[in-house]
Amino acid sequence: MQVQFVGSGDAFGSGGRFNTCFHVTGERVNFLIDCGATSLPALKRCGIDRNAIDLVLVTHSHGDHFGGLPFLMLDAQFTRRTRPLIIAGPEGIERRLEQVMEALFENSSKRERRFDLRIAALKPELAASFGAVNVKSFPVVHGESGGPFLGYRIEAEGRVIAFTGDTEWTEALIPLGRDVDLFIAEAYTYDRAIRNHLSLKTLEDHLAEIRPKRMILTHMGEDMLGRLGSLPHETAADGMVVEI
Ligand SMILES: [Zn+2]
Ligand SMILES: [Zn+2]
Repeated sequence: MQVQFVGSGDAFGSGGRFNTCFHVTGERVNFLIDCGATSLPALKRCGIDRNAIDLVLVTHSHGDHFGGLPFLMLDAQFTRRTRPLIIAGPEGIERRLEQVMEALFENSSKRERRFDLRIAALKPELAASFGAVNVKSFPVVHGESGGPFLGYRIEAEGRVIAFTGDTEWTEALIPLGRDVDLFIAEAYTYDRAIRNHLSLKTLEDHLAEIRPKRMILTHMGEDMLGRLGSLPHETAADGMVVEI
């Protein structure tokens, strides 16, 4: 399977990076993890066929993780998409999607579409399947507004990918990421502990318990970006492709 880091940035475009969006493809799967406000141009820059995407998994409803959905939906309409689309995310995703669509493009949530849209609410600790994609959701800790907040452990085609989403340290990250083939972890700061986000140092303190086979850091703020090249870990970059 292939994972492309369509966008590896934080909410504020640090380093000129696009908002969070990862594209996962294999023989039988084609899905996105998160679709932030800047993700449509990022998908186009990567030359990705948006209408081949079957599923968007959303970790939480902050703009840098789900604010690209109205653009993705309108792009699908204007390019005459017919392939069904599933958008799955934390409880409340349907209402939040409608709100953001109406805020950005009035009446856009009510337009008729040529494709079936299914919106699925995912509950923490439960497993769900979308075609060949099996997802287990974990509750993560990321403040009071924009939740619920989920991290995902995703199995498809014999591989396991985990994504922390945005979160401060929580014990849930251990079963979420244990022994996975690819652990995509937010590392917003280097060693400065801040609320709602992970520092690399905190993550490192727990890596022996998580034991991922491979880890790639994402959602890095200026503090982390200033250390690129001297970090003892792999870091994501926009457009980067990895095989797992
Ligand atoms: Zn974020
Ligand atoms: Zn967030």
